[in-house]
Amino acid sequence: MGSKHQQLHIYFFPVMAYGHMIPMVDMATLFSGHGAKATIITTPLNAPLISKTIDMDTKLGSDISIRLIKFSSSEVGLPEGCENLTSVTSPEMVLKFYKAIDLLQEPFEHLLREDHPDCLVADLFFPWATEVAGKLGIPRLVFHGTGVFPLCVYHNLMCHKPFENIESDSEPFIVPGLPDTIKMTRQELPDHLREGTQNHITTLLEKVKKSVETSYGVLVNSFHELEPAYSEYYREIIGRKTWHIGPVSLCNRNNELKGKRGNKSSIDEQECLNWLDSKKPKSVLYVCFGSLANFSAAQLLEIARGLEASEQQFIWVVRKEKQEEEEWLPEGFEKRMEGKGLIIRGWAPQVLILEHEAVGGFVTHCGWNSLLEGVTAGVPMVTWPHFADQFSNEKFETDVLRVGVRVGAQGWSRWAEDNKASVKKEDIEKAVTQLMVGEEAGLMRNRAGALQDMARRAVEDGGSSYSDLNALLEELRSIRS
Ligand code: UDP
Repeated sequence: MGSKHQQLHIYFFPVMAYGHMIPMVDMATLFSGHGAKATIITTPLNAPLISKTIDMDTKLGSDISIRLIKFSSSEVGLPEGCENLTSVTSPEMVLKFYKAIDLLQEPFEHLLREDHPDCLVADLFFPWATEVAGKLGIPRLVFHGTGVFPLCVYHNLMCHKPFENIESDSEPFIVPGLPDTIKMTRQELPDHLREGTQNHITTLLEKVKKSVETSYGVLVNSFHELEPAYSEYYREIIGRKTWHIGPVSLCNRNNELKGKRGNKSSIDEQECLNWLDSKKPKSVLYVCFGSLANFSAAQLLEIARGLEASEQQFIWVVRKEKQEEEEWLPEGFEKRMEGKGLIIRGWAPQVLILEHEAVGGFVTHCGWNSLLEGVTAGVPMVTWPHFADQFSNEKFETDVLRVGVRVGAQGWSRWAEDNKASVKKEDIEKAVTQLMVGEEAGLMRNRAGALQDMARRAVEDGGSSYSDLNALLEELRSIRS
């Protein structure tokens, strides 16, 4: 398996957003751990976000490298340096960003011709990747950045359109055809579904659908036991070939690797662990909303008040730099919270924190990676979705896995101005208290603990994800030969 002439070469091409780049780097590590050579394709300003992890991996024996392609920010009217979705701050910029993504096709094809890898794992946002790889006889696998539950929900929303003929945006309807009764409301859906409009996004999504259907299959950062009914549904009913190979975050075997995923931590990792070491098991709440969710100052203020009122210990990650005047914090908040609450301004070593035994709950925006990292750490969650697949992920956590308490977020909020202060202090206090010390807290923790065990078993030798990965590699070897 390891000899160079037989070694498989896999290309990984994530869209430029943390929620896609981080798990793809983990996947590269995983494939490399199974004897393959991995190449990650990204743009110059995104490379430094992953190069530290890759350097560390390489020192540990992984065969991973990066190849760069130019991102045409200025050609599409984006500010110079805007190469990652975290720097996109308006709907107009989103459209420009997708245009720039389209312009990657030619330089990408050039690289593919040069290296001719055995397989391409490319993000769903590159719908042209199936055709480009197909021209060269290279199988293309799609990476959606989510599990299959949200894919099944979305598929059935599109097929049956149960949101039409509903009186109001807040009236619940059942998503038909699924293994469980999943209720949603129209305000939890993206604009293009809610309004039925045809625009640039719908055109892109149609292309994505076609490219998924004609691709070799779908690679999923999840494990079979987490969503068995949906794995089968996706394979059998929707008819996609899939490999569940997660949770991929578990490929980071030491604290240094866990602490260096994604951006540079805004806190010294050891200082953070020391703070947690001083706390009792399961006594700290971790509050973090991923890399894209935006909050208004008014909403942050409600969070601060809610956390204080809950009387729980917490680590709260806020994507803001320290400023002299912080209008989003109640007066004297940090002084009062000294020893009890820690604010990380910027980027937190999330997996390291979640895996610490002192952490007993997670307030999350329900991004798939965060959901899976919470599950993998055996931590129940307060769910606070904002946009994208996060509302369906919330249903998965609360109604299917039953390890989540809803905070009560009602509808899409993509930008800070959508998010004035829609979730009140009282809602936050109530959900947090229920999660940490409520009647159901013990039961939820037990369920989360059982999922944690399953997650870890899945990636061990002989586990479901381990076997799926081996089966895929075997298949790719046979295609090559
Ligand atoms: N993350 C992190 N520290 C932070 C914020 C995010 O390590 O302060 C990581 C998190 O562990 C996850 C990813 O960034 O792997 C975020 O992905 P997710 O799907 O949860 O949300 P998104 O950012 O795509 O909305």
